[in-house]
Amino acid sequence: MASKTYRICTLPGDGIGPEIIAEGKKVLKAVGERHDAAFECEDHLIGGSAIDATRAAGEEVSALPPATLAAARAADAVLLAAVGGPKWNDTTPGAVRPEQGLLAIRKSLGLYLNLRPVRMYQALRDASPLRPERLEGVDLLIVRELTGGLYFGEHTRRHNVPGAGVDGAAGDAAVDSMEYSEHEIERVVRWAFDAAARRRGRVASVDKANVLETSRLWREVAHRVAAEYPKVEESDVLVDNCAMQLVSNPAQFDVLVTENTFGDILSDEASMLTGSLGMLASASLGSGTALYEPSHGSAPDIAGKGIANPLAQILSVELMLRYSFHMDDAADEVARAVQRVLDDGWRTVDIADAQTPKDHVLGTVAMGDKVVEYLG
Ligand code: NAD
Repeated sequence: MASKTYRICTLPGDGIGPEIIAEGKKVLKAVGERHDAAFECEDHLIGGSAIDATRAAGEEVSALPPATLAAARAADAVLLAAVGGPKWNDTTPGAVRPEQGLLAIRKSLGLYLNLRPVRMYQALRDASPLRPERLEGVDLLIVRELTGGLYFGEHTRRHNVPGAGVDGAAGDAAVDSMEYSEHEIERVVRWAFDAAARRRGRVASVDKANVLETSRLWREVAHRVAAEYPKVEESDVLVDNCAMQLVSNPAQFDVLVTENTFGDILSDEASMLTGSLGMLASASLGSGTALYEPSHGSAPDIAGKGIANPLAQILSVELMLRYSFHMDDAADEVARAVQRVLDDGWRTVDIADAQTPKDHVLGTVAMGDKVVEYLG
């Protein structure tokens, strides 16, 4: 009997989801054996597969059935693969779509913070659009506020507003409002400082304080929290400057913390540094169960072929070990195993290049096996 048992709600979803999540579970099992822990995984439906199953059962059609949500709430963590695919691209108004399952689970679990680590793999540096010398030492963590700001503010449109049209005529005008409370800012910024204290000790707080009142409040809170962390170095970076620095000198950053909209844009920009979608994991944390998932989609074009790259899913497991179970040694082992697999030239087809020998191009299952082999 393992000394500690964790219950994980696993959500394979659609497309390549079932193939890659199987490799995530395989790695978890191996980690458990090495660290005297048991990870009990229970599969539940989400996305297109949930739509099909609820429809077939004559239940209310749903991309997030109540049983899935209940299981997610009761679990110690949620591991999701991906949802969606052409089969469910019904655009008629009122049609249930797979992505609704994702939005609903994030909202229902109260996930207010999203994490995206961006790590450079020496072995894959040619896949990046940036020159290799700019990528030396890139290892950053983007902490993004997830439930406030512009995306959740009031959105209004007025018609026939005098002077709003072209040439001074009447026309439409629209407003999106951006609001943040100290409480919403502080819980995210504090998390970033805690993370930085366990990493390289630097937080860059990204805002637009020269223009926006929400940013001025953000900065005040960031400074107040920073005063409690004398060992962590804080800097304020304007978002436009940050966007530039991410491509000119990305290695300077350790932890970047920012509000929802800026984080949305910057995390996509930063993810391109690695040049490969199949390598990026993400975590969403909140007041309850946390959720871990790859940043890519369900890749319907390669589903069922056994060639999907499972590494982003395996790196989501790494994040789960680190942030939900505080098993830093085990998380480091997984990260190192992935690194060494790549250093030794093993690739899935999406990250292989002309120099990769044919016998080093692995399928999904073989790549999962390889990571397990390198855990030792
Ligand atoms: P995608 O990320 O699924 O695929 C983009 C390209 O990258 C494809 O060529 C795909 O084959 C490749 N790719 C992605 N992941 C890969 C992996 N692990 N291994 C090898 N190759 C990989 O994006 P898309 O094609 O725009 O979307 C496909 C479906 O996924 C859509 O229905 C979309 O709505 C959904 N989607 C879901 C999520 C999610 O579940 N979080 C995120 C994005 C898109």
